[in-house]
Amino acid sequence: MSLDLDDRQRAMLREMGVRVWWPKAPVEDAEKLLVKDFTEISDQKLAKIISNSGATNAIISRPIADIIKIDDKKNIYSVTEQDLSALTWPQLRQTVSACRACGLCEGRTQTVFGVGQSPSDDTSAPQVDWLIVGEAPGENEDRVGEPFVGQAGQLLDNMLKAMKLSRQKNVYIANVIKCRPPGNRNPSPQEVAQCEPYLHRQIALLRPKMILALGKFAATSLLRGTVPEVDKMPLGKLRGQVHSYSHGGLIVPVVASYHPAYLLRSLTEKAKAWEDLCLALAAMEALEKSA
Ligand code: URA
Repeated sequence: MSLDLDDRQRAMLREMGVRVWWPKAPVEDAEKLLVKDFTEISDQKLAKIISNSGATNAIISRPIADIIKIDDKKNIYSVTEQDLSALTWPQLRQTVSACRACGLCEGRTQTVFGVGQSPSDDTSAPQVDWLIVGEAPGENEDRVGEPFVGQAGQLLDNMLKAMKLSRQKNVYIANVIKCRPPGNRNPSPQEVAQCEPYLHRQIALLRPKMILALGKFAATSLLRGTVPEVDKMPLGKLRGQVHSYSHGGLIVPVVASYHPAYLLRSLTEKAKAWEDLCLALAAMEALEKSA
């Protein structure tokens, strides 16, 4: 495997505290690592999303109001899985920005939908090579409206640069949760369940070639259908292999790694994160060779 790192990228990796070496598995072996036998999951039934917090036609513009069900009399906001599956990228973005399906909407400045290349109308082919999935917006992201703009975001940008990628090119970055949990607490299982369907629709429209799941929340949401008892597994057990995301007939390889915020606190784990990035790059190379 040769990544041909230039001096700047090596300097950046040094700054991350990462020593550069190549993973033991050669590229040919990476292909073998790709999971071939996928457990097909039935589409997760979207919970009916109900909120009494006052969403009305007035704040949900057309054509969204035609797609999601709004009962003006009861002031009820609901979205079904079928509704989401009909949404285009701009409609999905608009739906997320108007979402009041859980209490997190009360404290947000704005929703954080994602950043990167928007898919075209014809989404039958991959729209991005890489999808990076994090957990939830923090204070900075809530203010700016873009994922990973704080310190963890700077580290993520350096990780992407080391992979010769950037958030401006061929990468999309999104979170499992679109609104900031107050005080940066962990999202509750209910909040995850309400928000996950938006991520699934984003993936269906982006059709990425490869997903990098950063942190336990992202890995759990993405691998629930394919890794038995993933909820109980620590991230350390999920990293270092190529898993697969399988939803609605779409199957995408997934590499799970540590969350950049965790890496900022646990410098010794950065080496393992670099190993994971190399694995993801090798898997992508194998994928492109076999295409
Ligand atoms: N952490 C995340 O998981 N996502 C962000 O957008 C910012 C910090």
